[in-house]
Amino acid sequence: MGGAPHRPARIHVISRCTGPVMTSQIIPVEPFDYIVFGGTGDLAERKLIPALYHRSSDGQIVGASRIIGAARGEMSDDDFRDFARKALEAHIKPEELKPELLDDFLGRLHYVSVDAKSERGWETLRQLLGDEPRVRAFYLAVGPSIFGDIAARLGEHGMIREDSRLVIEKPIGNDLASAHALNVAIGKHFREEQVFRIDHYLGKETVQNLMALRFANALYEPLWKSSHIDHVQITVAESLGLEGRAGYYDKSGAIRDMVQNHILQLLCLVAMEPPASMDADSVRDEKLKVLRALRRIDASNVAEMTVRGQYSAGASNGGAVRGYLEELESGSSDTETFVAIKAEVENWRWAGVPFYLRTGKRLAQRVSEIVIQFKPVPHNVFNADAGRPIANRLVLRLQPDEAVSQMIMIKDPGPGGMRLREVALDMSFAEHFHVRSPDAYERLLLDVVRGNQTLFMRRDEVEAAWQWVDPIISAWHETGQRCKKYTAGTWGPSAAIALIERDGRTWHEEESID
Ligand code: NAD
Repeated sequence: MGGAPHRPARIHVISRCTGPVMTSQIIPVEPFDYIVFGGTGDLAERKLIPALYHRSSDGQIVGASRIIGAARGEMSDDDFRDFARKALEAHIKPEELKPELLDDFLGRLHYVSVDAKSERGWETLRQLLGDEPRVRAFYLAVGPSIFGDIAARLGEHGMIREDSRLVIEKPIGNDLASAHALNVAIGKHFREEQVFRIDHYLGKETVQNLMALRFANALYEPLWKSSHIDHVQITVAESLGLEGRAGYYDKSGAIRDMVQNHILQLLCLVAMEPPASMDADSVRDEKLKVLRALRRIDASNVAEMTVRGQYSAGASNGGAVRGYLEELESGSSDTETFVAIKAEVENWRWAGVPFYLRTGKRLAQRVSEIVIQFKPVPHNVFNADAGRPIANRLVLRLQPDEAVSQMIMIKDPGPGGMRLREVALDMSFAEHFHVRSPDAYERLLLDVVRGNQTLFMRRDEVEAAWQWVDPIISAWHETGQRCKKYTAGTWGPSAAIALIERDGRTWHEEESID
């Protein structure tokens, strides 16, 4: 399983398209108001403003649609437009910044100074919103401690209507109890159908391609089960360290920051049963069943199923880097910056198929990917000269570049008899269709306006994910399972390698699909 590192050839599968090529279907959305709380923060600057600019420059944001920044600082509309212009210059390619498109976009921007903790600014916001019937999307790009305050002020000032929506980001709670309390606080003012819990991984092209591959082809689904799949790996690896987020991260750690949300969402999409349709509740019902089928990890099995790690000084991105404790002001902490988990989905389809999950900071490479490892052929008919067939693998890469590759065996082309060779059928279509691969936020921000919740997490999903994660964290405390050190720039503690190798398997080596 896995086999020695090798570098297979790459074959682009798309040589001929059948039917009309519909790559640039831009359907404008009805005029709306997007109110971005925390409009001057890091998330707004790096992600939300660039995503809205792209949708606007593609002609999807039309008419009288407005984007209203709302944050604590005092600022005029023009100051906010200046802030947005700088954000765009810093975060999108210069050739995508066309003066007439930029002017049109900046003309849609407004700013209101509001304080979630006082009465300041709320009447001004209400007046700016006016009475015109149009969708209102309130995006809370602020810390979760003020989600409830903002929802309450919006309610008290009569700004929530039937066509209003609320968008919130992780962290949605720190455990089941706090997630539940947050959902209750929001639920006092917004119905569940109005709440969009964003997980930007779900907006990625590759993740949506996973659903297309599974449910729009007859080829994969019959094989998508324990009789044909040996195991699944999900890796979300970062090469960066704390990047100034020590305050948040040290209270959270890798399992809360990455596993509870992104990794479990990816696991759900791999493992879920085919939904009856792509409507939001059909998809989310199936994801919820997966979360509820996860085998419980507690004090009785935590040592065997999980590895925690924390980086020490090493080398990363071509230079020497400090260890986690040196980056922290306190200098002492047992917060994990790495976690590997052997998860199991206890149902008919996945019985006996491990899902190996791993995520960490300061790892050897920045890469996020899902690997579906198929079983080997039952009997090798080839002689030793031909080489051994390598079991098929489907690799879906989400970061840094999006790619889908199906690894298959072929005969090495040319004379010289039968020799087997592994090749990657490359199913990364953006370049073939000559389209820009959109950022996940672009898709998700406008799904909010359209009212499509398919790619957003429902309240019960978030709570079910915590229900699985909480006992793992408690078990670490109960059993005294401390972090194992790993050198920055490596693939984590050696115990994480042992976690998978004990089962006769190896972590997928990312280089092999390049
Ligand atoms: P930030 O500190 O850069 O910005 C916070 C914003 O909130 C500022 O605009 C500030 O004016 C506003 N704000 C703070 N207190 C306020 C109050 N009382 N009333 C009104 N506005 C107030 O934070 P950020 O990095 O943009 O993150 C915002 C949220 O999004 C956090 O919960 C974070 O965990 C989450 N998040 C951020 C990222 C990211 O890439 N930055 C990614 C995922 C999730």
